Amino acid sequence: MSDNQPLQALFGGTFDPVHYGHLRPAETLAKRVGLQKITLMPNNVPPHRPQPEASAAQRIAMLKLAIADNPLFDIDLREMQRDTPSYTIDTLTELRAERGVKQPLAFIIGQDSLLTLHTWHRWQELLRLCHLLVCKRPGYDHKLESIDMQRWLEQHQVDTAATLHQEAAGRIFMADTPLVAVSASEIRHRRHQGESCEDLLPSAVLTFIDNEGLYRNPTPRGILRR
Ligand code: ATP
Repeated sequence: MSDNQPLQALFGGTFDPVHYGHLRPAETLAKRVGLQKITLMPNNVPPHRPQPEASAAQRIAMLKLAIADNPLFDIDLREMQRDTPSYTIDTLTELRAERGVKQPLAFIIGQDSLLTLHTWHRWQELLRLCHLLVCKRPGYDHKLESIDMQRWLEQHQVDTAATLHQEAAGRIFMADTPLVAVSASEIRHRRHQGESCEDLLPSAVLTFIDNEGLYRNPTPRGILRR
């Protein structure tokens, strides 16, 4: 049991770019769970994905613009500062060592990430280090792929958020968050097609994308990335 240190929540992603599909569910999650802070953690070299189209500096700048007026969020750049792959397990191990065994820690993911969690490096060890907070995402199955994974989920799932504050790690909370049908790849695709992205991401981020000429139409690299 923890000594009631406030639950710390981390939200990792490529954020290429950050959008309302990240921000809106996370804001509701904070209310549902009682999170005072959500730390956004942009990754450097995602192990399973091609390189981001925006540079690290551009992705950080977009995150800063997106959260400028929202004290719920802050940013941790440790994964960006590494030149090895951003394995979540390594980051959580480091954070756990820094914060101590009693600190309640949570890692936020969308339903799509839960469905592919079994492909993550040393995924079985994640719950020893943190809780998982899962946001809904439209278009993704509710059930996990295999019976074993579904059983694993049910064994660790809690229905009330209180446990997340009382224990340091080990629980999965399926949060009732809004369904936001936005993805970074759709935004990049729309930009490459010259289509509007208004209402998909904060206007300050969109202005930055315009000013930097990001995800410009047409770039074969961008199209290949979809
Ligand atoms: P891409 O389209 O390039 O794959 P993405 O939009 O999925 O990117 P990421 O930065 O890769 O964004 O996602 C980081 C985290 O945010 C992941 O855990 C993902 O599940 C979650 N996430 C992204 N978009 C949504 C959304 N619309 N609803 C809920 N969760 C989301």
